[in-house]
Amino acid sequence: MDETEKRRNGETEKREGACNPPIPRFPDSPISLPADPRPQKIGLFGGTFNPIHLGHLRSAEEVREAFALDRVYFIPAAQPPHKSGRDLAQATHRLKMVELAVADNAYFLASAIELERPGTSYSIDTIRDFLTALQPASLLFIIGIDAFREFATWKDYSSIPNLSDLLVTSRPGSPTPAPDRFLPVALQTLFWYDAETNVYRHTSGHSLILHEIAGLDIAASTIRAKVRTGKSIRYLVHPAVETYITHHALYKQEGASY
Ligand code: ATP
Repeated sequence: MDETEKRRNGETEKREGACNPPIPRFPDSPISLPADPRPQKIGLFGGTFNPIHLGHLRSAEEVREAFALDRVYFIPAAQPPHKSGRDLAQATHRLKMVELAVADNAYFLASAIELERPGTSYSIDTIRDFLTALQPASLLFIIGIDAFREFATWKDYSSIPNLSDLLVTSRPGSPTPAPDRFLPVALQTLFWYDAETNVYRHTSGHSLILHEIAGLDIAASTIRAKVRTGKSIRYLVHPAVETYITHHALYKQEGASY
């Protein structure tokens, strides 16, 4: 390697008798910058992710951008309470696919928190664990409107708005309800609607926001059906996820567990 090439690669060479020491890339500063005083805004996006697809990723990206989130954690459910074991790939496979899908986005992270906790995966426990680990972050729990319709069946659902803001995203292909029809009956006493900001407020001060996304009309069930019938899933999932599904022969047979 000649001198020019070494300089281009950022390498400096110590030569005997050289009088100028190499310039450090980041000069030491006597002033230490104060830590960012702003609490981090963290998105939590839970789901079965069986498998994670571009609809999930695009939705999270739109939310991250719109709400200036510092990070979004994708949290695959180890034992989802609302989905049967049929056609459900092992949690380790689903986590791995999430890791592969988010690897090229610096704002996105995969979380194994629900795989590390024994038993059924409940969002309330996950939110509590994140609050403990990340205090004083402010949390935004992201749910698609189809999942939100079942919110009142979730464990301790009425405690969730005490801990976190909730963001309900529209789902492409499903009509978005008008504000007065949006809240399930069981939630109507917990929130009041602030028409000025178009946000539902909870007595704790946390918000519930209905957010329209452009999104992508993709469902994991469609992807599984395509794999089963030998159809292409290209451009529906991240290429690394497509390779993983092929390599591990996932979703080949209906009702099988992988
Ligand atoms: P399935 O088809 O197996 O029911 P799914 O993709 O609907 O899968 P999950 O993986 O559990 O189900 O979805 C996780 C979250 O992502 C849910 O809140 C769901 O509403 C939301 N979601 C799923 N697909 C989309 C999409 N295409 N656009 C926006 N949000 C989505």
